[in-house]
Amino acid sequence: MPAAFLPAIDPARCTACGRCVAVCAPHVLSLHPQGWVKTAALDDAAGCTGCAQCKVACPFGAVRMVRAHSAVLADLAGKTSL
Ligand code: SF4
Ligand code: SF4
Repeated sequence: MPAAFLPAIDPARCTACGRCVAVCAPHVLSLHPQGWVKTAALDDAAGCTGCAQCKVACPFGAVRMVRAHSAVLADLAGKTSL
C-alpha cells in the first residue's frame, strides 16, 4: 500500500548533508546535482514507507511530510524536489 505521506524537500534549505539519506531504511532517498550544488531527492515514491525519519533527521527543516497525492501534483508542477 502506498504511503499516505511523502517527504517534500525544499532545495533552498537543503545543505546536502546526507542525514536523511543515511536514515532512510528502504534507501529511496539520494543526493542529486542541482546546478552547482546537490539536493536530497526522493527517488522512488512507491518504495517510501512514509516513516518520516528523514524529516526527523534533517537539522535544517528542509523536509516536510505532505499528503502523497499533493506531493505528486507539486512534483509534476515542478514546484518541489521529491
Ligand atoms: S519517509 Fe521514511 S521511507 Fe520515506 S524517504 Fe523518508 S526516511 Fe525514507
Ligand atoms: S537531512 Fe536535510 S539538509 Fe541534509 S541532505 Fe537531507 S534534506 Fe538536505
